[in-house]
Amino acid sequence: MSLSFAHVTLAQRVLFGAGRAAEHLAAEVDRLGAQRVMVIASESEMEMARAVAARIEVAHWHDEVVMHVPVEVAERARAAAAAAAADLLVSVGGGSTTGLAKAVALTAGLPIVAVPTTYAGSEATNVWGLTEATRKTTGVDDRVLPVTVIYDPSLTLTLPVGISVASGLNALAHCVDSLWAPRADPINAALAVEGVRALTSGLPRIVAAASDLRGREETAYGAYLSAVAFASAGSGIHHKICHVLGGTFNLPHAETHAVVLPYVLAFNAPYAPDAEARLAAALDAPTAVAGLERLRAELRAPRALVDLGFTEDGIATAVEVALPSIPVNNPRRVTASRLTALLHAALTGVDPAELSA
Ligand code: NAD
Repeated sequence: MSLSFAHVTLAQRVLFGAGRAAEHLAAEVDRLGAQRVMVIASESEMEMARAVAARIEVAHWHDEVVMHVPVEVAERARAAAAAAAADLLVSVGGGSTTGLAKAVALTAGLPIVAVPTTYAGSEATNVWGLTEATRKTTGVDDRVLPVTVIYDPSLTLTLPVGISVASGLNALAHCVDSLWAPRADPINAALAVEGVRALTSGLPRIVAAASDLRGREETAYGAYLSAVAFASAGSGIHHKICHVLGGTFNLPHAETHAVVLPYVLAFNAPYAPDAEARLAAALDAPTAVAGLERLRAELRAPRALVDLGFTEDGIATAVEVALPSIPVNNPRRVTASRLTALLHAALTGVDPAELSA
């Protein structure tokens, strides 16, 4: 990897500690001098949010959260923030909840304190997303980067194992894709590799016992590193493909990442020897693909897009939409026929090694 690069580090405070979210949030509200806090959490996340916000005054509780942030949902949250004269947004929940807080921050310019409860990683990026009709738009704006992230891994103990695995593999995909994304550099690669190590260590512990706090801690730590690497390196081929599958075909976000990742890795790895060597070492396997396959088997990860509702007749459209967005620096040249083959393989869940042959 070249030692000539331009790296940007995003400024953000991170407070990490199991069982300490309420204490950390109260300290942050005090430090920021906020008087009118708006808490955002979905209905099912609200009980957690009330416990996290137990030591602060809340001006408004907002629970209308919808995956991929439909524009009308964002508009209602913006209006609620204005009506409450909010001066701080606190999000408690998964990537969908963080995403709604970002949509409000984007137009209102309010700071966010994010308390993530999945491994999606949105809390550590300056990327926002909004959906109008079936078109998902994303953008980059530093106004949406939470000023503080409060990680309390005990909040993830209730996250079901299946969602934990998919969400953790979404984080792993941030790490892998960072290694060949448009702004890949040695700093974000170092973060990504440590992220792979932490996720590879934490996720099997969660599958063995959902209540394993050490596994939850390692996975949350890995998820943070993965998101920092991703925010710094930008979206690579993997994210471009998954963005189309999620946006155009409404496939579930984390599960789609979990299924597609081995195929992108098998596709690129032979053409990206540095990434291959780093990932194989971090996964402690002879090759990166073998390491990822072993991990996915241990985690009983979702294996085929067909199981997520994707069908063969969607492949041509997916290729047409995704192809122009694939970064030109991708290590292997991507053609329509190669992308078609990749999606065919991911559709049915064949052995990813067949793609690199
Ligand atoms: P999600 O936020 O939709 O959460 C999945 C489910 O888990 C929901 O039903 C939620 O209520 C539940 N849940 C959350 N925390 C829980 C807990 N601790 N215990 C029990 N249940 C819990 O899914 P996600 O995968 O976290 O986020 C996906 C969204 O985030 C997508 O819209 C994606 O585009 C976005 N995202 C954005 C970025 C970015 O940088 N902007 C990065 C990653 C993901």
